Amino acid sequence: MAGPRGEVAVVGAGLIGLFSAHYLLDRGYAVTLLERGDPGGGASRVNGGWVCPARSDPLPSYPVVRDGLRSLVPGAGGGFFLAPAAIPRVAGFLSRFVRSSTPARFERSWDELDGLNARTVELVDELVTAGLIGGLADEGFLMLHPTREEAEATRAALVTVARRGFCPAPEPVLGRSALLELEAGLGPAAQWGFLHRGDRWLDPSRLVDALIRSVVQRGARIVTDAAVSAVRAGRSGVTMVTARGDVEAGHAVIAAGAWSELLLRPLGVQGHVTPGKGYSFTVSPAAPPTHVLRLGSTHVGITPLGQYARVVGMVELDGTHERFRAGRVAAMKRAAAPYLSGVDWGASTDERVAPRPLTPDGKPLIGCVPGAERIVVATGHNMLGLTLGAATGTLVTELVDRGPAAAVAAFDPMRFTRGKGQPRVSTTDEAVTA
Ligand SMILES: Cc1cc2nc3c(=O)[nH]c(=O)nc-3n(C[C@H](O)[C@H](O)[C@H](O)COP(=O)(O)OP(=O)(O)OC[C@H]3O[C@@H](n4cnc5c(N)ncnc54)[C@H](O)[C@@H]3O)c2cc1C
Repeated sequence: MAGPRGEVAVVGAGLIGLFSAHYLLDRGYAVTLLERGDPGGGASRVNGGWVCPARSDPLPSYPVVRDGLRSLVPGAGGGFFLAPAAIPRVAGFLSRFVRSSTPARFERSWDELDGLNARTVELVDELVTAGLIGGLADEGFLMLHPTREEAEATRAALVTVARRGFCPAPEPVLGRSALLELEAGLGPAAQWGFLHRGDRWLDPSRLVDALIRSVVQRGARIVTDAAVSAVRAGRSGVTMVTARGDVEAGHAVIAAGAWSELLLRPLGVQGHVTPGKGYSFTVSPAAPPTHVLRLGSTHVGITPLGQYARVVGMVELDGTHERFRAGRVAAMKRAAAPYLSGVDWGASTDERVAPRPLTPDGKPLIGCVPGAERIVVATGHNMLGLTLGAATGTLVTELVDRGPAAAVAAFDPMRFTRGKGQPRVSTTDEAVTA
């Protein structure tokens, strides 16, 4: 399949690929999305639906490292699981992750994520006005705890977070009877809590469907069952080798989520993008929640979706992208049950696992491949692909338009690459395998 020079091929039709396509179309590019399965078939439909610039703290931090170490003890709980057998495969990721977890580096990464989020609220509001994002809810996140001390400690931490400018200070801590007025279906563990406004949420699957409809209406092609096995750069264009034949374009965007590393390594980019699997499932509470519920120290969250509630949680590193472990869902149910009454936990539906594209410092990789600037990397969005998707799409469009001049150093895809890689472009116009 040959394409014009003004055509951009986007590898991966998840949220990042779709948001990129949206803004590239705005700028007048012709866009082809190449998707190995169905659009949104990675993490994009499985997620919690939070558009949460206020909660954009990077994953690498001492508490997460502590949880990871604890999880090596059989039977341990927590929200971060590291399978001992996977350690050799993810050793490079882990050593860099631990180095990124110091308080100073955690704060710096968070500041840099705030920089990318600076336009998130404005961009999302524009998409709402344009009718692309529907059902964005803003009733607030209800932070629930079994003790007053825990609730006050969480609130104090969020008072500090509010100084970053993405949310107001949290409301005062409430006792159980006041909480029940806000949310009738709370279980006995929800003794103390408070409301925190600012972040919003939606049904991620509806957003994926709306983005697909919109980009197709505006002329984008989505090619399904088109797994890309290599991206090759020439002087004036890029070739994607796919299961359905070669595709040529002026530029390529690698937005293959947790699978991106397979395409990056041959290009000389060591991104250390690693699958951190998360789980979600749906329940049907007698009194459906009307706020996002954060359940004490369980690392489990509940998102209201009309008459239903989506339960999300877990970060599991076991070296696989999609292996489903029923025990993780059972553990999430045990953690959530004390906080929400009137739920038949045995009747849950849509039990799913998907890989978050983790990076060692919790920040995405967004930028041009050195020596092959027509290839733009847009991956590694960790827990924040929905939140950062719109801002990423605008940055990708700038990178396609202006090349490395538009680069943002904090998201340099080469920052973990030893020796910073070699130029990967052929000396002739002929495409080369990178
Ligand atoms: C349980 C859970 C809860 C989450 N909650 C939130 C939340 O509330 N808010 C938030 O902001 N983020 C959340 N996230 C994170 C968010 O879902 C991800 O960051 C986001 O989905 C990443 O988007 P992506 O497009 O990069 O990857 P994906 O959504 O995984 O999409 C990648 C796409 O690329 C395709 N692909 C892969 N390899 C190839 C190839 N070689 N050729 C062609 N196509 C390929 C895949 O099939 C897939 O469709 C959550 C994630 C999980 C798992």
